[in-house]
Amino acid sequence: MLSTIPTIADAQILDAADPLSCFREKFLIPKHKGKDTMYFTGNSLGLQPRSAAEALKTELDDWAEHGVEGHLRARHPWMHYHELFSKPLASLAGALPSEVVAMNALTVNLHLLLVSFYKPEGTRTKIICEAKSFPSDRYALLSQINFHNLDPDENLIELSPRDGEHCLRVEDIEKAIFDAGDSLATVMIGGVNYYTGQLHNLQKITLAAHKVGAICGFDLAHGMGNVPFELHNWDVDFACWCSYKYMNSGPGAVSGIFVHERHHNSDIPRFEGWWGHDKSIRFDMSPSYISMGTVESWQLSNAPILNMAVHKASLEIFEDAGGIHALRERSLRLTAYLEKTVQAIASTTGTNLEIITPSNPVERGCQLSIVAHGQGRDLQDKLSEAGVIVDWREPDVIRMAPVPLYNSFEDIARFGHILAESLS
Ligand SMILES: *Cc1c(COP(=O)(O)O)cnc(C)c1O
Repeated sequence: MLSTIPTIADAQILDAADPLSCFREKFLIPKHKGKDTMYFTGNSLGLQPRSAAEALKTELDDWAEHGVEGHLRARHPWMHYHELFSKPLASLAGALPSEVVAMNALTVNLHLLLVSFYKPEGTRTKIICEAKSFPSDRYALLSQINFHNLDPDENLIELSPRDGEHCLRVEDIEKAIFDAGDSLATVMIGGVNYYTGQLHNLQKITLAAHKVGAICGFDLAHGMGNVPFELHNWDVDFACWCSYKYMNSGPGAVSGIFVHERHHNSDIPRFEGWWGHDKSIRFDMSPSYISMGTVESWQLSNAPILNMAVHKASLEIFEDAGGIHALRERSLRLTAYLEKTVQAIASTTGTNLEIITPSNPVERGCQLSIVAHGQGRDLQDKLSEAGVIVDWREPDVIRMAPVPLYNSFEDIARFGHILAESLS
């Protein structure tokens, strides 16, 4: 009955043949009854790198030894700590090092960026977003519109998929942008939708926004560390992300932003703080602000070193693995394997398992979202009792993300057999 679901032995052969399989060893896999769980929620909280504890200890030891002098004398001087992220984040975002910085938390950064990039003026007041955007993003957009004393009902254009479809078509997004025309101030879309796993065409959306004179930005919470981007070349205006999902930097870990270099020296409005001040003369403690002239001018506060220590350790793993393009190649194979497995289970068990994530690999990251028609919460309970960790959304949606750094083909095959048994 399970004959078309990949066997564990098949999966082990694929794992053995893949040079990136060894990176799983660099992570702490949560256990269930003494065995590794099948952990598919790296889209929600990435796993802990083994190197995280040592990285934290380095900073704790330097703090113990140097106190305040650690700002200059720590092994990685805290004063300049955020600069350690310029290159690795630039490589994940497809940006210049001067266009990315790690700071604050995600929703905080989204607000700071909207201060700069949502500037309603005259009749150009509208924002386009997805109807099913992440709730925090929606709250941020609504409150920004309210903050400008505008009516959210009139100024937030929320795009829904066509009837009977789950994902937005890029031509429909473009049409909405052209229809809004010069009433459109800003487009703000989740680069990878958290619910469906759809990867949007950032380049086309940005081009359309610019054609009508609007600003275009993306929330890449589900994108960074999952798929490669070319934010600079695609001419994206701004982006933000968190580091605790695909970047494995720990619960609530530091966010990051991208601001295209063409905005760095413009007289764009910005909320300012001392960490955005020209660092060569920051400690002159001058009463007036002189901008860093790079994305660093969006920084407000000195860096949260303990939190960033894990981020640093985590990003080193991406480099060791050969970067995001190498990981994406493995990711495409893992997700295709999961897709085939789910399809085999649907046909062998006669269950309607509808994958709502686009089937075209170019339009998705690693996550698949599956509607388990006719199933309920007890399916989720059965899975978790068997050591499978997936994200369940009421009433019947399973979201799962095979992460190329630590998930294996074997995880997927083991999951497949458990799901099939749970359904039959
Ligand atoms: C995870 C996620 C958030 C969470 O925001 P925090 O400020 O980090 O709590 C916001 N937006 C999107 C799109 C997300 O995926």
